Amino acid sequence: MNLAIIGAQWGDEGKGKIVDLLAPHFDIVTRYQGGHNAGHTVIIRRDGIEQKFVLHLIPSGITHPGKTCVIGNGVVVDPRALLIEMEDLRGQGIEVNPKNLLVSNRAHLILPYHVALDRAIEASRGGNAVGTTMRGIGPAYEDKMARRGLRAGDLTDPSTLAEKLTHTARQANRLLSVLGGEPIDEKVLIDDGMRWCDLLSPHICDTTYYLNRSTRDGSSLLLEGAQATMLDIDHGTYPFVTSSNSSIGGACTGTGIPPSLINMVIGVIKAYTTRVGGGPFPTELNDALGETIRTRGGEYGASTGRPRRTGWFDAVVARYAVMVNGLHALALTKLDVLDDLDEIRICTGYRINGRETDQVPYDANLMSAAEPVYETMPGWREKTVGINRLDDLPAKAREYVDRLSELSGAPFAFISTGAERNETIISSEMLSRHGLDLSI
Ligand code: GDP
Repeated sequence: MNLAIIGAQWGDEGKGKIVDLLAPHFDIVTRYQGGHNAGHTVIIRRDGIEQKFVLHLIPSGITHPGKTCVIGNGVVVDPRALLIEMEDLRGQGIEVNPKNLLVSNRAHLILPYHVALDRAIEASRGGNAVGTTMRGIGPAYEDKMARRGLRAGDLTDPSTLAEKLTHTARQANRLLSVLGGEPIDEKVLIDDGMRWCDLLSPHICDTTYYLNRSTRDGSSLLLEGAQATMLDIDHGTYPFVTSSNSSIGGACTGTGIPPSLINMVIGVIKAYTTRVGGGPFPTELNDALGETIRTRGGEYGASTGRPRRTGWFDAVVARYAVMVNGLHALALTKLDVLDDLDEIRICTGYRINGRETDQVPYDANLMSAAEPVYETMPGWREKTVGINRLDDLPAKAREYVDRLSELSGAPFAFISTGAERNETIISSEMLSRHGLDLSI
């Protein structure tokens, strides 16, 4: 059984919790796009002690013994960031070896000049900055598309590596000098490259064949998405998007696993909406209520501490995510954050330049001009924190959840009512219809 997990809004939906809950039930967990700009915190209890793991690049399955974690070809890999993450995990007692962590030889590398380019390009955009994480991810994907990138496989051949690094560093330095960025030192890059070659080569292999062979031989695969549908380079609110396909297409191109082998696609969606950085956000609440949701939901960037923008649930976005990804089901998170509200609004459509629509416009400026059309429901004003049976939800919370599902066009396989794994309502029957049995 192969399952893909995808963010259905603008990210930070709580994918980490859902993936962590599912990972023990799969043999292989793979990332397929993005870089170390993703990130989630996994809290697990080992030998009675609670441990916190922050993962940016390595799939969260790594904390579960016996799982194989794969960094697929669609991911861009910064060798420095990967080595730090591997060492941090080892320092916390987690086994990381060439058997449980595989890196695709087709995955493109983020090199130090990509980080310098990211900074220089963002600075040159002035007031129109995209708000990138400055980790070189966009420039690495640019090089991939321009067919001049280096790939993880290049780290496995020390005899040609120095020449390749020199060539690409010179090209990048020419560009950096035009943009006013800091050039990088070729010699340092080559020395680093040789070290990465030693340390990472044992993990680098043809994961396309590995994944296809394993799944066809009966291993189960969890495809772990980073970022989200509305940040997809093609389907998101361009140009306020990430540099990869974070919707379902990326799961196939980023692993080499064909669509016919993916049995189920689940979108993770919050009971309200958040967004980090610039770009359109029709249901944004720029008021005290927005602040209340931010505080209760802990909506601050995991690594930067940056406050996230908050707003009402946007069913236009949800329907779009269901359509673009062919979502079989949704995982609703953070329902508990809305527990104390008197009334709750749901955006059912947009009014753009006087005309109503139920579609996401292609143009970010049009979306910025969208006035949300709301319907209002009464709040339940009762604690839902920790509820893990559907029947235990307050009636009004159940009505809200049912309405979200109806407007989104997909059922909920999970309803999350807290950060802990057991604070989740699970529709086992729905999952088993798609071949996933969580009781095993
Ligand atoms: P991701 O990038 O999509 O994995 O999202 P984050 O890692 O930013 O997750 C959001 C945060 O919300 C994490 O700190 C989770 O522990 C927490 N969280 C996840 N689900 C719930 C929930 O249902 N209720 C509450 N209160 N917190 C949750």
